[in-house]
Amino acid sequence: MCQCLDQKKIEIREKVKTEVEATTSIFEWEDLGDFKEKTVVNGKNTIALPFAYSYIRRKINSEPEKKITNVYVNIIPTFCPFCGEKLEL
Ligand SMILES: [Zn+2]
Repeated sequence: MCQCLDQKKIEIREKVKTEVEATTSIFEWEDLGDFKEKTVVNGKNTIALPFAYSYIRRKINSEPEKKITNVYVNIIPTFCPFCGEKLEL
């Protein structure tokens, strides 16, 4: 399995740090960032693409419920989005 996620994280952190510090006076870095939607499948780190949808359910009397049900599912890519290598998950 490729190391793109770890390598890209390092590259992006370096770029963020350089670009932000060029224009902003930073007192202290709290968090240099990471992929927001990471997940572990079979003990391996990968990223997930959240797919969100919502609906209003129908009650037994056919009236709509007052609340909206929001749902999301994580779609796990089967190929690395950076190098295209098949991910063995
Ligand atoms: Zn890769």
